Amino acid sequence: MKYHIVTLGCPKNAVDSEGMDGLLSAEGHEAVASATEADVIIVNTCSFIAAARAETLGVLKELAERKRPDQRLIAAGCMAQSHPAEVAAVQGVDVSLGTQQWTQIGNLVNQLAQSSGSRFAERAFVTIPLIATTANGQPVSYADWRTTQIRRTRHTPSAYLKISDGCNLRCAFCTIPSFKGDMRSKPVGAVLAEAQELVAQGAREIVLVAQHLTDYGRDLGLQDGLATLLEELCQVTPSDIWIRLMYAYPHGINERLIATMASHPQICHYLDMPLQHAHPATLRRMRRPPDTDRTLRLIAELRAAMPDIAIRSTFIVGYPGETTAEFNALLEFLRAAQLDRVGAFRYSREPGTPAAELPDQVRPQVIERRWHELMQVQQQISRARNRRWIGRTLTVLIEGNGVADDGSALSVGRSFRDAPEVDGQVFVWGDFPVGSMVSVKVTQATEYDLWGEAEQQ
Ligand code: SF4
Repeated sequence: MKYHIVTLGCPKNAVDSEGMDGLLSAEGHEAVASATEADVIIVNTCSFIAAARAETLGVLKELAERKRPDQRLIAAGCMAQSHPAEVAAVQGVDVSLGTQQWTQIGNLVNQLAQSSGSRFAERAFVTIPLIATTANGQPVSYADWRTTQIRRTRHTPSAYLKISDGCNLRCAFCTIPSFKGDMRSKPVGAVLAEAQELVAQGAREIVLVAQHLTDYGRDLGLQDGLATLLEELCQVTPSDIWIRLMYAYPHGINERLIATMASHPQICHYLDMPLQHAHPATLRRMRRPPDTDRTLRLIAELRAAMPDIAIRSTFIVGYPGETTAEFNALLEFLRAAQLDRVGAFRYSREPGTPAAELPDQVRPQVIERRWHELMQVQQQISRARNRRWIGRTLTVLIEGNGVADDGSALSVGRSFRDAPEVDGQVFVWGDFPVGSMVSVKVTQATEYDLWGEAEQQ
């Protein structure tokens, strides 16, 4: 059958989509570039916040309205798992497949192929059984991942590799553990094999993702699991590959992990470490570690071991009960920490979370004002951090080419300081092949992007 996958939401969803893509092509199905050409349309849904769910429902409705009678529409992923009734209410969605079931996509599409035509004309919300579950219904492991089955088509030199799924923590604002369950790590051997395959397919950068990256391996009985995994990964990948770490929970970052990051050429001196807030009282209400001084010390240790490290974090603005003093403490923290990159979310009241029941919900106008204030403070910091690179040389992984207004050739890429999709870019004068790594002398900096000239090779 011909299939088309629409991916909504975060990079972790992109990884699951790639996995579904690999499983379907291994079963002999054919990926097509548009929903119109497809026999089966799969939407990998997002339920992060209310706006994401509204977007998901909008996409499903649009596709359902345009769908031909012989086409099938599958809603997969987070929102299919967390809000099944809302997804089921969209007329035209034929099948719903939750987050822990996506490895069954091959079986499902095979079933659809066998029952194609009018025999599958009835709407059928099928629940696909998991291959193996524990007594409490959680998948046993990623044992059903067969890396050899994953045949990805590489369009960019960068690839995401999910090393675990689910989370053992219970932050008060977060819905993820309620539908993804506790953390399950992919076995080390499977991660290594997948990384090698990605490199063989041309990936120059592997972005390791998870809900809680620094907890990797706890369920496998590993101590310092992430550091161990990184050391093994560096043994099996070429020395000029980039390995990037996203979504590190601060309390899992220890001396060994820092030393591992500092000592292997493949590991980018980059860390995405979502902190969510900086005032101890807010952090306590979030059910997160309230020790901000410890976090500042950790940032100092990272910079001592890797002076060029780029640190990214995300924060929630307007969390229930956030007073002016608490918000100001967050701004003070940003000034003290001098983070390179910061993303900010406006707090969104998620039904079913403990945070939604907290008193003193902050008014939307206040949240909006604080969000802008935080962004303004951080923009100055990010600009200053970027300007430190003027006159210095960075290796840039080229991802695209174009022309400037005056007709000059211009390439665009990223340095080790920029994660795909969320950080800035580096613009380089000249026409360089996508996937190449070019030495670039930085000549200009804005708060997000850098500009530069290629050095003579
Ligand atoms: S660590 Fe992240 S995924 Fe886990 S509960 Fe907290 S916010 Fe959610």
